[in-house]
Amino acid sequence: MPEKRDYDAIVVGSGPNGLAAAILLQQNGLSVLLLEGKETIGGGLRSAELTLPGYTHDICSAIHPLAAASPFFTQLPLNKFGLEYIYPEIAAAHPFDNGTAALLKGNVNETAGLLGADERAYIQLISPVVNDWPLMADDILAPLHLPKHPMAMAGFGWKALTSASYLSKRFKTPEAKAFFAGMAAHSIQPLTNIVTSAIALVLLASGHLKGWPIPKGGSGRIAGALTSYFISIGGKVETNVYVTSLKQLPSAHTVLFDVTPRQLLQIAGHKFSSLYKWQLERYRYGMGVFKIDWALDTPIPFKAQNCKQAGTIHIGNSFAEIAEGEQLIWNGVHPEKPFALLAQPSLFDPSRAPRNKHTAWAYCHVPNGSERDMTTAIENQVERFAPGFKDIILARHTMNAAQIEAYNPNYIGGDINGGVIDIGQLFTRPALRWSPYKTSAKGLYICSSSTPPGGGVHGMCGYHAAKQALKDVFDR
Ligand SMILES: Cc1cc2nc3c(=O)[nH]c(=O)nc-3n(C[C@H](O)[C@H](O)[C@H](O)COP(=O)(O)OP(=O)(O)OC[C@H]3O[C@@H](n4cnc5c(N)ncnc54)[C@H](O)[C@@H]3O)c2cc1C
Repeated sequence: MPEKRDYDAIVVGSGPNGLAAAILLQQNGLSVLLLEGKETIGGGLRSAELTLPGYTHDICSAIHPLAAASPFFTQLPLNKFGLEYIYPEIAAAHPFDNGTAALLKGNVNETAGLLGADERAYIQLISPVVNDWPLMADDILAPLHLPKHPMAMAGFGWKALTSASYLSKRFKTPEAKAFFAGMAAHSIQPLTNIVTSAIALVLLASGHLKGWPIPKGGSGRIAGALTSYFISIGGKVETNVYVTSLKQLPSAHTVLFDVTPRQLLQIAGHKFSSLYKWQLERYRYGMGVFKIDWALDTPIPFKAQNCKQAGTIHIGNSFAEIAEGEQLIWNGVHPEKPFALLAQPSLFDPSRAPRNKHTAWAYCHVPNGSERDMTTAIENQVERFAPGFKDIILARHTMNAAQIEAYNPNYIGGDINGGVIDIGQLFTRPALRWSPYKTSAKGLYICSSSTPPGGGVHGMCGYHAAKQALKDVFDR
C-alpha cells in the first residue's frame, strides 16, 4: 500500500463520469475528494428556472436512455436517493411534412408496422441488436477489448461500423430513411461518416428495450442522487474549486480528471511525455450546439397527433434534409433548416411547470465555436410541424455554442461529446494507448467523455477509468 496522503484519490470535475469514478473508488474503501469548478455539482446534469419562475429546464442533458441502461448506474440504489425515471409511451417521434410521424415505441413490431413497405426491413435490422443487447451492453459501453460475446458483437459490428447513408439503403420508403437519419444525427457528424450507424442502432435498441426516460424533476435529480449516494458512503465534495494547476490539489495517490484533453494539457501538460502531449494536442473537437428552452402556454400543437405522446421529437423531415444540414455544419455553414432535437418533459412530468403550462427543450448543431443565434431557424422548424407554436411561447432562454463552453469548460466550442466520435476517435479517444484512461504521468487519469465510450450520460468513462486506477495504483 502506498504511503499516507491527504486522500487516496481526487476526482476533478463532477459530471456523470466524474461522479461515477468517485463512487467506484469510494465503494472500494478509498478516501475520495470530488472537486467541481462551478457552484453546483453535475456538469451536463443540472436543471434550473431558466425562463420564468416555476418552470424547471434542463440546462444540458434532458433525455436519458443511456443513464437508465448504464451497466454501472443501474447497480446503484439511486431510487433511494430521489431518482425516479418517467418513461413516455412513445420514446421518440419523427414528424413529416404530410402530417404523419414515425414513432419509436417499446415494441419493435409496432414501430416497424408504421413504416409501411419497410416493416420487414426494420425488423430484420433492429431485432438482432435488441435480442443480443443484454450480451453486448458491457462490450459496447467499454474501451476496445476482446468481446465477451464475439458472435453477438460481430453481428452488431458489421452493421454499426458503416455510415447511416449506407445502412439506410436497406429501406425503400422516405419515412424509414428519415427516421433512421434522425437517430444517426445524434452522432453530430456527417451521415456519410462510418460509425454514424452505430449511434442510430444503439439509440433505437435502447428505445425498444428500456425506453427513453426523463428524470422526475429534471436531469439535476440524477446528479443529486449520485452525489447523495457518494456522500452516504463517505465521499467528500467541494464546489467552486476550478483547477488550473496540480499545485492546487491536496496530496493524493491518484487524480482522475473529468475534463477534456485541452484542459488536461493546461493543468498537467508539464508532467506528460512529449508523445502523449503531441497526441492530446492533435485531439479533435466536433460541431457545437445551439440550445433553446421555452416556457409555453399549452402543449406544442403538432399536426401529427401522436407526437403529443412522445418525449423526444426529431425535427428534420427527410433523410436528404438532415444529411445536407449536418454536412453543411461540418463544413462551417449554418443551414436554414437545421435538424433539431426537441424534448417536451412537462407533458409527462407536471412538476416541470405551473399547472397547465409547459416547458420544451431543443438544440440544433452548429459549427464549432459559433456565436450565431439560431432561435428563428429552430422556431421556424418547430412551427412547420406544429402550426401555432410561436403563439404559445411565453418566454425563451438561449445559449449559443460559445456560451455553452462558457457554461461548462468541457464543451469546447459547444461540442457536447467531449470531442468528435468518429472512427479516428471512437476507441482511441483521447490517444492511442493500451488504456485510454491512463495518461503518461504516473497516477494521473482522464475519465471524461473524451475517453471511450464517449458522450452521453452513462458514467461508463468514469467507471472504466476508476477501474484502471484501482488496478494500477491500489492493486485491486
Ligand atoms: C445542450 C446539451 C444537451 C445534451 N443532451 C443530452 C441528452 O439528452 N442525453 C444525454 O445522454 N446526454 C446529453 N448531453 C451530453 C451530456 O451532457 C455529456 O455527454 C455528459 O454530461 C458528459 O459527462 P462528463 O462527466 O464527461 O462531463 P460533464 O458533464 O461536462 O462534466 C464536467 C464537469 O467538470 C467540471 N470541470 C471542468 N474542468 C474543470 C476544472 N479544471 N476544475 C474543476 N472542475 C472542472 C465542469 O464544470 C463540469 O461540471 C447534452 C449536452 C448538452 C450540452
